Amino acid sequence: MSEALPTTRLRIRRFTGGPFQENGYLLECLSTGKAAVVDPGHAADRMAAAIQEEGLEVEAIYLTHAHLDHVEGIPDIRRVTDAPIFLHPADQFLYDRAAAQAQAFGYQLKGELPAVDREIQPGTSLPVGEVALEVRFAPGHAPGHVIFHVPEDEVALVGDVVFHRSIGRTDLPGGDFQELLQSIREQVLTLPGSTRLLTGHGPDTTVDEERMGNPFLIPQTRGDEGHFA
Ligand SMILES: [Zn+2]
Ligand SMILES: [Zn+2]
Repeated sequence: MSEALPTTRLRIRRFTGGPFQENGYLLECLSTGKAAVVDPGHAADRMAAAIQEEGLEVEAIYLTHAHLDHVEGIPDIRRVTDAPIFLHPADQFLYDRAAAQAQAFGYQLKGELPAVDREIQPGTSLPVGEVALEVRFAPGHAPGHVIFHVPEDEVALVGDVVFHRSIGRTDLPGGDFQELLQSIREQVLTLPGSTRLLTGHGPDTTVDEERMGNPFLIPQTRGDEGHFA
């Protein structure tokens, strides 16, 4: 289902589907009407239909990381736009193995993935019309995982770094539990507390909600000393 989320300069719609219930996002700059896609997954066919029906001009496809569930919908999006694909280079090896990832989960890609067009550089910002997505490097779940922060809208797209009351898994190739906890501490918990976190799976949350209520992050669990490793 797609769902409108309350924001100011960006209209953000979430499209969820597939065996992993992955959340893909369609971002639209309200002043220019220009759009970008983040992590097109299993429900990207519905996202593509919305893009086409509304005649949206998609400027880019931005990937938080290259796990299968976040990239498998790229062929659907590419049927309605030739927007370039952006990925951090440390996740290129995962992108290249997408077909093998699919096979391991017992299904086939909807289509071959087109080549990545641009490298995402942490510390830079990426445009959606007039709105800037600030790129933060947050490895641990995947080695090239990035998150996109929109300070003016107090929202961040965090992919599979942190979820409502949970964190990303670290048992996949390139995963690292301590590195993930460090990324969450340094790149997520340093955002303003009211920042809304749009996650790769499940409901959205906020920095403060996870700082206080996430069992992996509250000090009592001593999660940062490896008790979950
Ligand atoms: Zn992932
Ligand atoms: Zn995922």
